[in-house]
Amino acid sequence: MNARILLLPGDGIGPEVVAAAVQVLEAIGKKFSHSWTLTSKIIGGAALRQNLPALPDDTLAAAKTADAVLLGAVGDSSFDALPPSSRPESALLKIRKELGVFANLRPARSWPGLEHAGPLKPEVLAGTDLVLVRELLGGLYYGEPRGQDAGAGTAVNTMRYSRPEIERVTRVAFGLARKRRRQLVSVDKANVLEVSQLWRKVVTEIAADYPDVTLSHQLVDSCAMKLAFAPASFDVILTENMFGDILSDEAGAVCGSLGLLPSASLGPGPGLFEPVHGSAPDIAGQGKANPVGAIASAAMLLSDGLGLHEEAAAVTAAIEHALSSGLRTADIMSASGRLVSTTELAAAICAAI
Ligand code: NAD
Repeated sequence: MNARILLLPGDGIGPEVVAAAVQVLEAIGKKFSHSWTLTSKIIGGAALRQNLPALPDDTLAAAKTADAVLLGAVGDSSFDALPPSSRPESALLKIRKELGVFANLRPARSWPGLEHAGPLKPEVLAGTDLVLVRELLGGLYYGEPRGQDAGAGTAVNTMRYSRPEIERVTRVAFGLARKRRRQLVSVDKANVLEVSQLWRKVVTEIAADYPDVTLSHQLVDSCAMKLAFAPASFDVILTENMFGDILSDEAGAVCGSLGLLPSASLGPGPGLFEPVHGSAPDIAGQGKANPVGAIASAAMLLSDGLGLHEEAAAVTAAIEHALSSGLRTADIMSASGRLVSTTELAAAICAAI
């Protein structure tokens, strides 16, 4: 295969972890005889520094014509005084919307040897391997009307979903569950919200097309609790935008460092693959960033973006190998681990491939 991959390193540790992920993609290309056409463009603070908008037009155009996009992180405190619509982070919302990536997949798993890295007892975390599918382009974050009435001292946001918006993300979640352990939990607040009642109705109807997948429904508050005391009981979780925003952070946090978490955002065109963490200005440029989130995002790019499942499995196995051999960046360091830099961990993962 020859795939065109657009790299958007962004700000802070973004360039460091994207460079690590590129090394891994190159190792995979060599092993499986694929060639990648890699192009790099600026986004976020890196673009604002050149007096361009946070998402420059040519960056967006390149994203739309790529086969897949790998993003590092955006965010730079020197632009904190700008209005939210002009800050580096505004590029994220815009590129997601422009690419139409409506399904956000956030896997959360316990890596071998890292059962102690998270806040839970190792025996509670053991065996955790779930994917949260979050609807990314609808709901409260986009619904109109919205706004503040300073005079009246009131503010409003609108949670709105249409049947097609629910259907398309539900099909992604069922399709994913089919390739995994065939258990899907749809999360809503149907005891209080009409939007959730529609959500539950549509998900239940679509389940008829996937009789091999077991569907259950759970209220969001109950799901939040269960993620903390029995994370290993979940396979695929499907939910709307805001509930997914909150639950995916919780699911990630129970597994340990933010630096371990990948994500994929999928739609009708090129997918957007990015680690969950931000630009981490406190450790940028010091070789301390954990590259696993970005490298695991590259694995998702291979499988969910390009359909290269064997290649993605090789990346995951190589991450497991490097972590099992005791290599640790500072964020996951333990008494028995060996402290390594971003590039050393990436090199070990490449060597394992
Ligand atoms: P952050 O994720 O950048 O960092 C939070 C903490 O986690 C920091 O202590 C950081 O050192 C650590 N951390 C993050 N990634 C790590 C990694 N790979 N390895 C080791 N440690 C890691 O979140 P923040 O500090 O709240 O935000 C910093 C900037 O990033 C802000 O400008 C924010 O808006 C932006 N941000 C961007 C994204 C994104 O690009 N998707 C996401 C979140 C935050």
